[in-house]
Amino acid sequence: MQTVTSEDTAHAPADLTIEVYTTPGRPFASATPPEGPGDEPTWSPSSATLIYGDHEAILVDTLATYDQVDALAEWIGTKRRRLSRIYITHGHGDHWLGLARLIQRFPGAIGLATAEVLARAEFEAADPRMAGYWDAIFPGEVPAATEKVLPRLLTTDTIDLEGNQLRVMRIGQADTAESTVLHVPSLAAVVTGDLAYNRVHMMTAETGEPERAQWITNLDEVAALEPTVVVAGHKKVDNTNDPRIIGESQQYLRNFSRIAAQEATAAGIVAKMVERYPDWSNGRTLWHSARSAIARKDSQ
Ligand SMILES: [Zn+2]
Repeated sequence: MQTVTSEDTAHAPADLTIEVYTTPGRPFASATPPEGPGDEPTWSPSSATLIYGDHEAILVDTLATYDQVDALAEWIGTKRRRLSRIYITHGHGDHWLGLARLIQRFPGAIGLATAEVLARAEFEAADPRMAGYWDAIFPGEVPAATEKVLPRLLTTDTIDLEGNQLRVMRIGQADTAESTVLHVPSLAAVVTGDLAYNRVHMMTAETGEPERAQWITNLDEVAALEPTVVVAGHKKVDNTNDPRIIGESQQYLRNFSRIAAQEATAAGIVAKMVERYPDWSNGRTLWHSARSAIARKDSQ
């Protein structure tokens, strides 16, 4: 018979659970009239991921608007774990603006990000062009300048959760540069932020062809971990977190690069992409990406 001492028990890592909360797409304010079908200003459906053990929980990314964050907080509350940390995958506001509200709701929880992500979040919060961006598209629905709460600097590459080591991977190029993903080896899970997308049009506006090639390579790094759970920052609400989204995202980026090189107008890129991806969510993101691809060509 095997005996288990109390010391062994204390040191055994807790079994972890991962659950994903997804908020549906929603309109945002924009002064620019739509250029074509699907271009109505819509924010993509977005996810936040809770990883928890017996007593404690870690959230990955925060959503953005008050209504989204309140519903997320409500959901976290039902899990009956102490929310101790909120890990931010990358610097885009839709992944960290919710920190202020969450920390009010869960006092003691702290936001964490790598130095690179923190620098980008600081830029979004402080740069004169960017600081007003979120207020303009979600007026009165996101923290104003002084109310914003930035994550704190994470100085380690792992985050301990009840004896389990969660690995921070500085993956680099995703839909923005200097992104990270969180790998949970004991669950064979990777929370990818905006590296992988799950049947939602991918935001490529910050990338040219070389950056997209790097993005594709970075997705290979996640595939090499052979995860069984892959969470996308933007996903259809009812979709599972199937690892096939890695390959789908890579194929989407290849198609986008090829079509963007061939087409002379944003409408042309959109038409060709929609032909291939008729059921992917949020044409607005595709329009935005297409306009940016054309603007890059024009400036060359
Ligand atoms: Zn995002």
